[in-house]
Formats: sequence, structure tokens, C-alpha cells
Amino acid sequence: MDYTISLTNKCNLHCSYCYERHLNTAYGSITPEIMHKVTEFINRRNDAGTVYLFGGEPLLYKNEVMYFCENLKAKQFVITTNGTLLDEAFIAWCADKGIIINMSHDGADCDDRGADRALLDEHLKLLLRYQPETLVQLVYTQRSLPHLYDNILYLKEMGVKKVSAAMDAFLVPDDPDSFGDLMREQWQKIAGIQDLFVYELAVKRKYILNQKRSTCEICKKKLFINWDGSFYPCVQFQNIPAFCCGDLIAGIQADKARAAHPDYSMRSERCEGCEIADYCRNSCACRKMATTGTVRDISEAACMEEQVQILTVLEGIAKEKGGKVS
Ligand code: SF4
Ligand code: SF4
Repeated sequence: MDYTISLTNKCNLHCSYCYERHLNTAYGSITPEIMHKVTEFINRRNDAGTVYLFGGEPLLYKNEVMYFCENLKAKQFVITTNGTLLDEAFIAWCADKGIIINMSHDGADCDDRGADRALLDEHLKLLLRYQPETLVQLVYTQRSLPHLYDNILYLKEMGVKKVSAAMDAFLVPDDPDSFGDLMREQWQKIAGIQDLFVYELAVKRKYILNQKRSTCEICKKKLFINWDGSFYPCVQFQNIPAFCCGDLIAGIQADKARAAHPDYSMRSERCEGCEIADYCRNSCACRKMATTGTVRDISEAACMEEQVQILTVLEGIAKEKGGKVS
């Protein structure tokens, strides 16, 4: 089982696309008591694969992050941070223990975050010295889409080798046609960047070449543990009582949650007959929830993004084989 532990939903940045702000729930953070109970709970189960330390901004609670890394029995730890609070001592400590740090950075254009770009650049360079393979997570909005390629190049020029570029989940394009054209143009250019791992394209390529898709099932392979000790299937469901699937006292109530949400991994009606459905990640309940607030539908923009990325990858594969996309 992979566990995501949310240490807090508070953050020191103000990204326009922030999932926490859109979830609009009460703010709080983990207490020492919950921290010890979470540790006992996971260690008793003795089944932890990757433990993701998450927020909000988890490094607002750096000591607590270190506590989990030192006390939980898990194969791997991944910290997802906005990078503002990184310092060399902490990065070196993580490197020494093999703890992975994923940092978010939107490239040259950080205007959607209220972030100091110079500070993020400095911290990213430091992180890359210790973890050259770190995954840098960028989010693009309707406003920044025209600069997506440039922003990715900016990161590459700083030495980044692995990048993920996700669309603002709440995006509703003003003009879907021109938005789709622009997205297509940007992703075609991104696919042409040499020596850069782009997570979204790599995942699509894997699906297409291996014809293998995994569907999500509530609490089967991953569990989100909230800072107050309650359990949810994934990040987008935190603090939504209807999706609560247990807590530190009752344990994981997977059967109850599955019975309550048979539509969890269904595809949206818009997907019926879609020829590329097998390569599309939009049956992901977390993504459906993020883009439409329900597990039954996916937004038009998210559908467009999938189409653009899948087409881009299919074109690349066809080119390698010397043919054309059918
Ligand atoms: S860094 Fe993450 S948690 Fe913080 S405001 Fe931005 S999206 Fe939200
Ligand atoms: S590309 Fe769009 S229509 Fe096709 S499966 Fe994905 S979300 Fe559904």
C-alpha cells in the first residue's frame, strides 16, 4: 500500500490553481498525538510501499517530516514541496537517507503562485546538486499556456532532467477551440525537447506501447491520511465526509466506501465510444473530482489535454516507425 500523509493543508504560497483552496475546507495541521498514531498504524500493517509526505506545504512541519522518515517502516519516502523552505542541511539529510524530494516550480513565469522566482531558482539548483534526477512539477494555467514550452525549457536550462507539466485542474477555457490549438502547438514543441523526461508523455507512451492500464479502486493500493487522522481514497477527497473511508481508530473501511461509491472508477458519458479511451487517464477518480467536483464526469479542458498528449505521443511513435498516425 502507498500512503500519502498530509501534515497540513496550510501553505506559505498562494497559487491560483491550489487544490487546497478549491477544496475550501477547514485548515489545520498534524499534532504529535496523531503523528504517533499514524506511525503505529502504518508500522502495524507493515505493508508500506511508498510514503508520500504532502500538504499544503509539508516543510512548514519539517521536524514532523523528519520524524516520519525516521520512524515509519516503508520502502521509499517522497516529499512534495513548493521548495521555498528547502535548505542545504535538510536536502543533504534527505540525500543521505535516499529520501526523494519532488519540487514544484512553474519555470520563468511564477506569476500564478505569488512566489519569489529567484528564491525558487536558488533552492532548485541546490536540490539538483544533491538529487540530479529530481522531478520538478509545473502547473500551467490558461494565462501561462502560451509560455508552457518556454517555461519547461527554462527548467531544463537550470539542469532539470525530469519534469511534469499539469494543467490547472479547475481550468475552463474562454475559447475552447483556440485553447485546444494552442495546447497542441505547445505540447508538440515540448515533445521535441531532447534529453528531457516529461512525465505526462512518458506515461502515455507506456500505456500505448504496453496496452496496459490500471484502474483505481478505493483503498486498494493507496490511502490518503489526513492531518486529523481521518482516511480518504486520495488527495481530492480530503475532508469530504461522503468519501471518508475510515480513521486511525476504525481502520480502513474499504468495503463500505466501495459500496457507497460504485461509480468511483467509471468513465464520463462524454467518453463513450472514444477511440483513445484506453490511453486516457481520465477515469482517475481524483482527476474527475478535481476537474468537475464529481466522480462521474471529467472537464472539457482535461479531455482536451488528454487528446492532445495522446495524439502527440502517437505521432512520435509513428515517426520513429517511419509512418503516419492512423
Ligand atoms: S504550493 Fe501547493 S499547497 Fe501551496 S498554494 Fe501552491 S498548490 Fe497550494
Ligand atoms: S480523451 Fe476525453 S473522451 Fe476520450 S476517454 Fe479521455 S476524457 Fe474521455
